[in-house]
Amino acid sequence: MQCAHRRPAETAGQVVARELRARLRRRLLAWFDRCRRDLPWRRTRDPYTIWVSEVMLQQTQVATVLRYFERFLEAFPTLRALAAADEQEVLRQWQGLGYYRRARDLHRAARHLVAHHEGRIPDDPGLLGAVPGIGRYTLGAVLSQAFERRLPVVEANTRRLLCRLFGLRDSPERGPVRRRLWEIAAALLPRGRVGDFNQALMELGALVCTPAAPGCRGCPVAGDCVARRLGLQGQLPARAVRKEPVAVREAAVAVYRGGQLLVVQRPEEGRWAGLWEFPRGPVAAGEADEEAAARVLSQRTGVRARLGPELATLRHSVTHHRITVVCFEATYRGGRFRSGSYRQGAWLGQEGLGELPVSAPQRRLIQALAGRRQKRLF
Ligand code: SF4
Repeated sequence: MQCAHRRPAETAGQVVARELRARLRRRLLAWFDRCRRDLPWRRTRDPYTIWVSEVMLQQTQVATVLRYFERFLEAFPTLRALAAADEQEVLRQWQGLGYYRRARDLHRAARHLVAHHEGRIPDDPGLLGAVPGIGRYTLGAVLSQAFERRLPVVEANTRRLLCRLFGLRDSPERGPVRRRLWEIAAALLPRGRVGDFNQALMELGALVCTPAAPGCRGCPVAGDCVARRLGLQGQLPARAVRKEPVAVREAAVAVYRGGQLLVVQRPEEGRWAGLWEFPRGPVAAGEADEEAAARVLSQRTGVRARLGPELATLRHSVTHHRITVVCFEATYRGGRFRSGSYRQGAWLGQEGLGELPVSAPQRRLIQALAGRRQKRLF
């Protein structure tokens, strides 16, 4: 029985007219053959390699991924090797790419595939889509490129390109436009070269239909582009109303005991899950940074210390939070590590610190400490 609120499924012809579909496919594939970048993950049909690249490419530029991709595959050359690895090692190899949740999901999914699918990526959307951590985008990207499965992909580049090409004026972050984009992407898929076609859409969005200055004059689909015809390239895609940024101030402490520093591992869930850091926490309203540092240290680790000079002040943004972290050096006075908020603590020398998976801001603090020691200021 048809749900009263749901539109009946449209055919590809109702979503995009047949002649237009044929023309767009032809032009996009011809352009891709001429202009595609030679990227390492495009030289293979191995689903594991493609999967790793696709996960890395989510929210990260190609140029950055290129610096990490081969190193990661050298460390974990097969899906089984990844599944067998310790999570800390996976996070360490991911270090620098950010959004560590992707690495944890990749690792978890690899373990699931070994446990339930003999260590293979199944050529079956139903089976692969049921693996925890594999979303619709990853599913379409991997199965279309590795096995030519007729599945669409929609990510940031295709979203921008399709909004302009089809003149979609509402924000693509809203449900109806999001759904429409998936329908259009599915309707456009050719019968053959599906993986290339999906990549052509993403590549055109990345290289030509760029956010600030789309290169419409060299665009292979310019003749059919609604935004170009109406002069709306600069206004599409419509931006969703952004939340006001929230300023957060935190205090952190680098505690020395002899030549070692106290580092703590963050909990399993939440931001930077499983990564290591110097103990830190929010500065309360009306509280001085030094007071907050001493309080955070004793409350969160049970360790007492004499506070020294400020080491550094870091500023970084996470989603809509603008975070300022004021970090102090300190000297151990007493107390054993115990914590209700961290998974574990460890006292490590400079070399040990270099081995830990840490977030980019924490890496900057470690570097600031190393620089300070070299100058013999501490
Ligand atoms: Fe984007 Fe311009 Fe091509 Fe339209 S013509 S798809 S706006 S690059």
